[in-house]
Amino acid sequence: MFAFTPAFEAPTGSPIRELFKYLAQPGMISFAGGYPATDLFDREGLDAAAARASQQTTACLQYGPTDGLAVLKDQLASLMTRRGTPCAAQDLLVTTGSQQGFDLLLRVMVAAGDVVLVEQPAYPATLQALKLQGADVVTLPVDHDGLDVATLAALLDAGTLPRVPKLLYTVPTFANPTGATLSLERRKALLELAARYRFLIVEDDPYGDLRFDGAALPSLLALSDQVPGSRDWVVHFSSLSKIVAPGLRVGWMIAHAEILRRCVVAKQTVDLCSSPWTQAIAAEYLAQGSLERHLPRIVDAYARKCRALCDALETQMPEHVAFHRPAGGMFVWARLKSDENAADYLRACIEKNVMFVPGAAFYKDKVDPAALRLSFAAPGVEEIEVGVGRMGAAMG
Ligand code: PMP
Repeated sequence: MFAFTPAFEAPTGSPIRELFKYLAQPGMISFAGGYPATDLFDREGLDAAAARASQQTTACLQYGPTDGLAVLKDQLASLMTRRGTPCAAQDLLVTTGSQQGFDLLLRVMVAAGDVVLVEQPAYPATLQALKLQGADVVTLPVDHDGLDVATLAALLDAGTLPRVPKLLYTVPTFANPTGATLSLERRKALLELAARYRFLIVEDDPYGDLRFDGAALPSLLALSDQVPGSRDWVVHFSSLSKIVAPGLRVGWMIAHAEILRRCVVAKQTVDLCSSPWTQAIAAEYLAQGSLERHLPRIVDAYARKCRALCDALETQMPEHVAFHRPAGGMFVWARLKSDENAADYLRACIEKNVMFVPGAAFYKDKVDPAALRLSFAAPGVEEIEVGVGRMGAAMG
């Protein structure tokens, strides 16, 4: 009856959100969502920040600048500097979650038919956004060290791609869904390829601060200063969602000034500005040093939860699942050793009141039906142990 645009004639919604209906099942233990633990939100710190923000009536109740409140941009630039990427407030655009940043970038950079490289398995909302944009998505394999950069190099060197890629999307640190982290060597090699073949690397980094094992690696953005010619080819996204609260919807992007300027114009038509109210709260929260005070608590809790999940899988289901322990983030990527379809196994698990996300949601092609993603972030340690017990029982 209605004349929708081709992309929206028969769109499919998020496969993960489809699972949410089961969350209402009484007693359900969920390893499904990538939601932070509710009890780890710094209510006190955020309440104090909100009380201070509300004093600044004009700043937080009025429309704000499209590129973000100056006070927040200053705080985010300092945060980036503490993370090892010195950056100035003008290099950065505040977005309504990092999700919006990616959408803005696609509007500015990607036309229908443009080649976009994506690691696979990948974050489903990225696959979805690329599909709606009509991009020609080419998937690249990953392993425990993240994106397989050698395969990418071979592909580029052979010149077999349908066109020169516009951009490559990656979550190099504690990836969603695999939990994998790109090694230092591969980071350098990837930056060299971007400089040589002139494609943008989109570095999506919502999880980098959630490291509980091993030494921190420089972000691709930080490392780009050491790889000649690569700095202009990195677009970096980050977010307060996983380290403060997703309800703030505060994310940011750092990119070449020419890209950023165009993203600001795109944002003008999307939402005029991100909520000045939550931006002001975030700015106060950061200015008071609350993130530094609270983050170790979150990281410590996720370390314990991750250990609980991995230990339980190892002791209770050793013959059923294979997985790799992540060094941070929120996810364990696992595989059913029987090669059984994880969607069928999920149905049995839901009957036992436990759930996860079947791996198919994270693939554009070459699906591994036996893969599954388990998030340890939201449930408590005891729930995690009970949940894995139920998964074992669901094996029949
Ligand atoms: N990128 C990745 C890899 C994510 O996992 C998520 C959230 N699940 C996002 C981006 C979106 O985050 P935000 O809340 O900042 O929009």
